[in-house]
Amino acid sequence: MNDAQHQKRQQRLKEKVDTRIEQAQREQGILMIFTGNGKGKTTAAMGTATRAVGHQKKVGVVQFIKGTWENGERNLLEQFGVPFYVMETGFTWETQDKSTDTTACLNTWQYALKLLNNPEYDLVILDEITYMISFNYLSLDEVISAISSRPAHQNVIITGRGCHRKLIELADTVTEMRPVKHAFDSGIKAQQGIDW
Ligand code: ATP
Ligand code: MG
Repeated sequence: MNDAQHQKRQQRLKEKVDTRIEQAQREQGILMIFTGNGKGKTTAAMGTATRAVGHQKKVGVVQFIKGTWENGERNLLEQFGVPFYVMETGFTWETQDKSTDTTACLNTWQYALKLLNNPEYDLVILDEITYMISFNYLSLDEVISAISSRPAHQNVIITGRGCHRKLIELADTVTEMRPVKHAFDSGIKAQQGIDW
């Protein structure tokens, strides 16, 4: 391809992009989902939180995970006024206790509801909530109804594997992380600052 052809092709591309930018004018909060089996779902959510905080947006994080592991993004973002509510059951994944877990999940969901009802929040992160729905700890319909009736400008991020197809349908942006390789599979230990 010569210079003139290249320039012509770039010009055509630019026109297409410009048209699409012009067409996307609606302003509203979106529902984003980071799902799939590959690494990067929670880090993508936290990256978006960092981006939003950098623009003085108000962000709240709710983590539907068990345990009290240290968490690098929490250490950082709390210093910038981002509240974290982490589901803590005192149990590990090995000790399954359905009633304790359901109670912990529903308490955590009550907190999530407060954020989803509060127009001060520009971004609400529901980290690992997909599992609560697949374990039947939390009703799918209730989650859909809360997300659907949130303030119009509010953005929501859901993370977790095996996201229910009804949530995928409801979402505006969905990214599926596909594992190509993972260090863990070749015996490399999870690392502070990389994995948590
Ligand atoms: P991350 O928090 O690193 O963005 P994730 O949110 O996509 O990962 P989770 O299943 O929530 O994935 O991750 C829980 C932990 O397992 C994290 O420490 C993560 O680094 C690690 N992990 C994620 N994907 C894989 C994988 N395919 N194999 C092994 N470990 C993984
Ligand atoms: Mg995660």
